Amino acid sequence: MPDITKKVRVRFAPSPTGGLHLGGVRTVLFNYLFARKHGGDFILRIEDTDQSRYVEGAEQYILDCLAWCGLNPDEGPKNGGPYAPYRQSERKENYRKYAEQLVNDGYAYYAFDTPAELDEQRQKFPNFRYGHENRDVLRNSLNLSQQKTQALLDQEVPHVIRIKVPANDTVHFYDMIRGDVSFDTNLVDDKVLLKADGMPTYHLAVVVDDYLMKISHAFRGEEWLPSAPVHILLWEYLGWKEDMPQWVHLPLILKPDGNGKLSKRDGDRLGFPVYAMNWKDPQSGEITKGFREMGFLPEAFVNMLALLGWNDGTEQEIFSMNELIDKFSIERVSKAGAKFDFEKAKWFNHEYIKISQVSGIKNQVLEILSAKDILVQDNEYFDKILETVKDRMTFLQDFWDQASFFFEQPATYDLNAVKPKWTDDKTQYFKKLIDTWEGLALVNEWEAVHLETTFKALADEKGLKPGELMLPFRVMLVGGKFGPGVFDIAVILGKKETIERVQKAIIAFTE
Ligand code: GLU
Repeated sequence: MPDITKKVRVRFAPSPTGGLHLGGVRTVLFNYLFARKHGGDFILRIEDTDQSRYVEGAEQYILDCLAWCGLNPDEGPKNGGPYAPYRQSERKENYRKYAEQLVNDGYAYYAFDTPAELDEQRQKFPNFRYGHENRDVLRNSLNLSQQKTQALLDQEVPHVIRIKVPANDTVHFYDMIRGDVSFDTNLVDDKVLLKADGMPTYHLAVVVDDYLMKISHAFRGEEWLPSAPVHILLWEYLGWKEDMPQWVHLPLILKPDGNGKLSKRDGDRLGFPVYAMNWKDPQSGEITKGFREMGFLPEAFVNMLALLGWNDGTEQEIFSMNELIDKFSIERVSKAGAKFDFEKAKWFNHEYIKISQVSGIKNQVLEILSAKDILVQDNEYFDKILETVKDRMTFLQDFWDQASFFFEQPATYDLNAVKPKWTDDKTQYFKKLIDTWEGLALVNEWEAVHLETTFKALADEKGLKPGELMLPFRVMLVGGKFGPGVFDIAVILGKKETIERVQKAIIAFTE
């Protein structure tokens, strides 16, 4: 069971470096569900201390993605909160004192090695890692006298602060998904905590801010697991062990074939989005497609993500947000990576379009149409069509392919499907059919059941098989072998239009 004796406070802590990967959104989702379930707070913290990786517009883009998914933070850079600021670059002043405290307590040290000196080491030792094996011979405060160190500091010689990871030790911690995890400290290098520009690195900033922001549970992707020993040591060295959040390293999202982590490049290669929303690289202008622009409903996207690594123990796959909040538990998140399956993602979208109310999706459909310069009136006729064809749509963009024939008569017919079996009897049949239908009242009689009954009765009368007449009838109305129930189509088209289409098609079929 999660320790929820502390007030639940969770955070999503992205670096604003580009598009938001679906794995990031899943981290947001699990944070959000956990916070909602336990009456806690969900915080968005922007980890932008690495100025060299900062990308203009990326923060706003992240906020937009979260808003689109309906996963808005309770505290964050836009809406503020009791622990503001929520952008690490604006918290710069906080970090140095902790780094210096670590130096004073013997858990960290000043390192004055220049980039050139470090390069030289890397040339000499291809597997060079700054750590217990070599820190005693490098230019740092562990080797320099106190006076010399102080003199270098006073002269403002560029330096970093590094953690002093102990040799021959083991770091243990408990992960709520993985159980006990341990790391051999000999394999952990002395990570930089404070850079020469005075900015903290991710390692220091994440620990300091999780502490100051009273984070109770830290959800993040499995790719951060190797950084965990550094963080655990920092929690301990800063004297905050009691307040350390519970760790939750979420399983990776894997390529469809299960071979490694799903990357943006896989999406480009296999033709599916990996980012939540379109991302335009401000430098190259290159646009990477997102789920939103591809036509996913946010509810479908979120539901699909929930099942990447979690299930409720039953076969249920469709969950509303409230159900997810109710049923989510860390115990049911798997350790194993979850394969991404785009066909499954499409299936979710299809299911969500099916269960959507027309009123909930019609504006988006109309927008898509108007972007394509297709003018469709928002009226009862449009509503009826959308109601009829939405069961056949995987994406909102599919509307026009599924429904254009409601708005324009077929320009061509699939004659190959009809002509080889077309007979004079059939011509007579359809002529008689429209005579019969001419006599139907618009109210109560122009209805699918009634049309079908009269269609079949007349076929019987003429000794024709209704099955052989349905396909030509469909081609008459829509031009080809597609579309919803043919009598439903006729009802929506209305009596006048249906009869007109049959008349026109008879001519085309007999020519
Ligand atoms: N800033 C890290 C990232 O970009 C956060 C990792 C963490 O949650 O500790 O994903």
